[in-house]
Amino acid sequence: MGSINSYREKIVYLDNNATTRVAPEALEAMLPFLREKYGNPSSMHSFGGDLDIELDRARRRIASLLGCQPQEIVFTSCGSESDNFAIRGLVDAYPEKRHIITTTVEHPAIKNQIPYLKKRGLRVTEIAVDGKGNIDLNRIEEAIEEDTLLISCMYANNETGVIFPVREIGELARRRGVLFHSDAVQALGKLPIDLNDLPIDLLSFSGHKIHAPKGIGGLFIRRGIKIRPLIIGGHQERSRRGGTENLPYIAALGRAAELAAENINEEKSRVAYLRDKLEVGILSAIESTEVNGTTEPRLPNTTNIGIHFIEGEALLLAMDKYNIAASTGSACASGSLQPSHVLRAMGVPFTSIHGSVRFSLSIYNTEEEIDYVLQVLPEIVEKLRRLSPFHSLEDVKAFGV
Ligand code: PLP
Repeated sequence: MGSINSYREKIVYLDNNATTRVAPEALEAMLPFLREKYGNPSSMHSFGGDLDIELDRARRRIASLLGCQPQEIVFTSCGSESDNFAIRGLVDAYPEKRHIITTTVEHPAIKNQIPYLKKRGLRVTEIAVDGKGNIDLNRIEEAIEEDTLLISCMYANNETGVIFPVREIGELARRRGVLFHSDAVQALGKLPIDLNDLPIDLLSFSGHKIHAPKGIGGLFIRRGIKIRPLIIGGHQERSRRGGTENLPYIAALGRAAELAAENINEEKSRVAYLRDKLEVGILSAIESTEVNGTTEPRLPNTTNIGIHFIEGEALLLAMDKYNIAASTGSACASGSLQPSHVLRAMGVPFTSIHGSVRFSLSIYNTEEEIDYVLQVLPEIVEKLRRLSPFHSLEDVKAFGV
């Protein structure tokens, strides 16, 4: 890398869809409950019992970000728990309904529940997406059956940032008497969400994607929806989730939600500007690259770029040497590197599916960081391509793959 001479000591963190840095304000908000105010909000004595007010404060802050009632929020340990709670809680509450509709591009917290549901005798229809990652509403409508309990469709995809037509899906669900759950883990804080106005019955979210710590999340459950708890225990969370409330993390989540509401316009304008600069810069400086998924509507912070004729993992390791953190979205399953199920579902071509990289930004990223990435990336890719056995489609065909 002869000409790259601006190595940075400080990490350029472009993996915010994986997790985010904890906002200093969120950290401050949790500390009193780890130090002096360590009581149990369910206690009879005021040292603990008075902390109920703090739980309410956090709940109100989240409800205000989501446009719902505070009592409609149940705190959980993470987005995955919220997704499990939504699906299993409804399946248990409506045993006569035996069919669920979802999509092929859901997060594993939904997708990996399917074998369990089938084992319990439920039928599950997974709606395919097109090459741009979009879903066809007609196909959802056609899939609805007499005993369909639920449509579960994510708000926005974690790998591509593609936003789904949740309003239209919700309206369809209402019309047909089916419940609608949306995994909004990636949408919260990045898009305005107004549940007052949106026909969504249950909505999952997670703290560590919005600058709160890992280990806290929540599920919005619209008033009147019948659901069974996933965690059976005490009467916390109005008997919807047992377990002593994680007040420090709940307080941090509340504060992070408040910050997210303040920063949502910056997310839409400055973060989107930086994402676009990165994307356009890569597409114009590096040959044989393209954006995976539709660019509109899409989360303002995410771009997933297919870089043909390289291995994404090799690129991540090379970028790591330059202190740039991004992600491929692929999972290392039983020793073999499997391309992402989302990109496979979209039919991304063989020559770029292995070389697809997701960059996801946050309000903490700067233009200088983007300039740095644009400076070093073309050279890194060129070097990797020199090592690759494939340089064109003809090479790929010649290898018989
Ligand atoms: N759903 C989506 C769309 C996600 O992106 C994630 C995390 O990446 C989750 C669910 C799981 O959230 P958590 O890590 O809080 O369990």
